[in-house]
Amino acid sequence: MNELATPAPAGSEPEAELSADARAAQFAQQVGQLRDAVIEKLTYSVGKDRNTASERDWFISVALATRDHIVNDWMRSVRAAYQENRRRVYYLSLEFLIGRLLIDSLTNLGLVEQMRAALSSLDMDLDKLRQVEPDAALGNGGLGRLAACFMESMATLSIAGHGYGIRYDNGMFRQTITDGWQHEYPEDWLDFGNPWEFPRPEVAHNIGFGGVVDAMPRDNGSPARIWRPSETVVAAAYDTPIVGWPGADKSNFVNTLRLWSARAPDPLRLDVFNEGDYVGALADQVRAESISKILYPADSTPAGQELRLRQEYFFASASLQDLIRRHLRQNGDIDALADYVVIQLNDTHPAIAVAEMMRLLVDVYVLDWDRAWEITQATFCYTNHTLLPEALETWPAPLMERLLPRHMQIIYLINARHLDRLRAEGMEDPGKLSALSLIDEHHGRHVRMGHLAFLGSHKVNGVSALHTELVKQTVFRDFNEIYPDRIVNKTNGVTFRRWLLEANPHLTKLLAETIGKDFYNDAEALKALEPLATDLDFQARFAGARLANKTALAGLIADRMMIKVDPNAIFDVQIKRIHEYKRQLLNILQTIAHYNDIRAHPMRDCVPRVKIFAGKAAASYHMAKLIIKLANDVARVVNNDPTVRDLLKVVFLPNYNVSLAEAIIPAADLSEQISTAGMEASGTGNMKMALNGALTIGTLDGANVEIREHVGADNICIFGLTAEEVAVRRARGNDARDTIAASPMLREVLESIRDGAFSPDDRNRYATLVDMLTYHDYFLVTADFDAYCATQMNIARRWRDRKSWWRSAILNTARTGWFSSDRTIAEYADDIWKVPVRPS
Ligand SMILES: *Cc1c(COP(=O)(O)O)cnc(C)c1O
Repeated sequence: MNELATPAPAGSEPEAELSADARAAQFAQQVGQLRDAVIEKLTYSVGKDRNTASERDWFISVALATRDHIVNDWMRSVRAAYQENRRRVYYLSLEFLIGRLLIDSLTNLGLVEQMRAALSSLDMDLDKLRQVEPDAALGNGGLGRLAACFMESMATLSIAGHGYGIRYDNGMFRQTITDGWQHEYPEDWLDFGNPWEFPRPEVAHNIGFGGVVDAMPRDNGSPARIWRPSETVVAAAYDTPIVGWPGADKSNFVNTLRLWSARAPDPLRLDVFNEGDYVGALADQVRAESISKILYPADSTPAGQELRLRQEYFFASASLQDLIRRHLRQNGDIDALADYVVIQLNDTHPAIAVAEMMRLLVDVYVLDWDRAWEITQATFCYTNHTLLPEALETWPAPLMERLLPRHMQIIYLINARHLDRLRAEGMEDPGKLSALSLIDEHHGRHVRMGHLAFLGSHKVNGVSALHTELVKQTVFRDFNEIYPDRIVNKTNGVTFRRWLLEANPHLTKLLAETIGKDFYNDAEALKALEPLATDLDFQARFAGARLANKTALAGLIADRMMIKVDPNAIFDVQIKRIHEYKRQLLNILQTIAHYNDIRAHPMRDCVPRVKIFAGKAAASYHMAKLIIKLANDVARVVNNDPTVRDLLKVVFLPNYNVSLAEAIIPAADLSEQISTAGMEASGTGNMKMALNGALTIGTLDGANVEIREHVGADNICIFGLTAEEVAVRRARGNDARDTIAASPMLREVLESIRDGAFSPDDRNRYATLVDMLTYHDYFLVTADFDAYCATQMNIARRWRDRKSWWRSAILNTARTGWFSSDRTIAEYADDIWKVPVRPS
């Protein structure tokens, strides 16, 4: 019996019921037990003693001791879901960008301070050990991080939720910057074991590929289709418990993230091995296991590779087999599946699950087609994450035919029935029919995965109000006319536990002292700060908390980059994947303009700024890599120019990941959200920084629109073309020569880049980049340049008026509670999943 099973969560004030003495005694008891547990893990699980243990050994011991606390609640949560026969939510995502779990777990268990004290009594430092944990980086960026926030919020709201994904051996690559260029190195998060996961070798499913489909007469006369795959791969389960924030009853609900790892069914062909062909004997194993070897590191562009389709089908099939087995074990009746199961597809990556569900229902469970289709549609929901036409997944029909012959048949049949129905309802326009077809016939046949996901789902959602509107007007315009109620909006959110409580303890402490701890349970309670926004004493304390964060980030920058930055300067931050539509280039051009201005007017009193960039470029995305190089070239020139003094520093921090985000976000004064309007579906980095008290400089794109509505137009700096204006402008073509000619500042900036001012070693390096901006400025960097620079100058003016700046910053924190992923998940639960939530 674990006596620490009901920890005191910081937010729910159980302490108030205890006397101070009793509280101190309970704390001391928990510290003692944790200390003993850590030593026991170190000795018996890691096999080291205190004198020889490395920091990694200590970390593993601390993680295992923490995990023990989760397990009882986990089992209780699993039992509750069974006993109440709850409707379950399955979140299928090819990406989960989790980051570290130690502080996250301890926070939700209410044991951070107890563990800190326990370690301190062993001469160990929790804050040092937490840095030893590798990031679980099973995702590229926003989409994967959203899945991680959603898992945490589902547990917090006591939804019986299961995440399904792939346990990649190598997650997101490690980025280094050498001489300004990005290099990619394999990331090895599993090398020293993963203390959070439980291997489940008994949970394994066979996944077929290739082969042929036979027709066999059935008893009832209609032919059965038998798929005889030529290849089988085994999906083996690994479970990670995901702890929610405790509810009103002080208990933690715990859900499971189940990740699949690929195995060969017969790892070593002994017959081949005995004949001396050692390499051949391993070939099948290597081919099978390659499926879960590596995360595709491309963001917003489809991989289009056979291995990627194998990954998609592998995890979709394993997950469906698993959840159907669970359903049948409990309810016995496949026909009732949709009553007990809802499956959310995170983008089109798992969309092949629609065809797999039909195959299982029709071929394996022998339901008739129409009933199977009803169940499928009633079970699936799909989230669209992008409008970029190049990012909409399609698969060549011949490839799908070869890899998944039965699924190709099923997709053709779904499509034939869908088009028949449209014709029967009077649709004759061949253009419309071809736009609505699951098969794109334009340049060789391709299966449109977005169309398949739409058709197979009862709800389809966009991720911000603007994005959902554009989804209705563009990619799914024709579908929306036929199914006008299917598309709904669910604006993204972020979990406040990680992005405020854990990432920003200084601010959290101040907030708790000022408005109490209600906001721990309900982010909307941050509203109580509003009256304090003009309180000078509170402003000073707010500024003090932020200065502590900025000083810590300045230390990190000094350590890693050997660049000295002044914590009193504006920290102007753009951290996200490097992509042309996100327009890091616009920020860099403005940086150069500002640099030119400082040099031209050395005596002018100007506000010191630190420009902070971080982000990875897909390895094959040459322009994105060139943008990284330019940021680094500009940094070198600016940081080494004595006339600039401390007025401007430019820092590109390598290897952006969740942990680096946690260090930067609490220190950001200005949050750069400057995508070409209409192109960023939502953004979540924008929410994290506003919550932590940064002002946003941004376009009216994605969730920026709703951030403006919540914080108020006076407390956000909006500039640039709107999505509508972007569309109009693009219709006129992307030649920017007139725009450049009309802006002397922009001309000077582009000329200095073209002339090699930032690349004296290779004066031609940026010629193509400048040409691109001049003749094909698809992302409208030049069109928004002047407005952006003017807004940046306004920001410098605002910064001088500290009372007004801190008022806006405080109001950003006070008014962004709505962007909690608890709110987002409650909306999904209510509107899409039809499951109850238990508010914390
Ligand atoms: C939040 C987050 C993102 C998403 O950032 P956007 O600015 O919304 O693109 C990407 N990567 C990491 C590590 C994050 O924490």
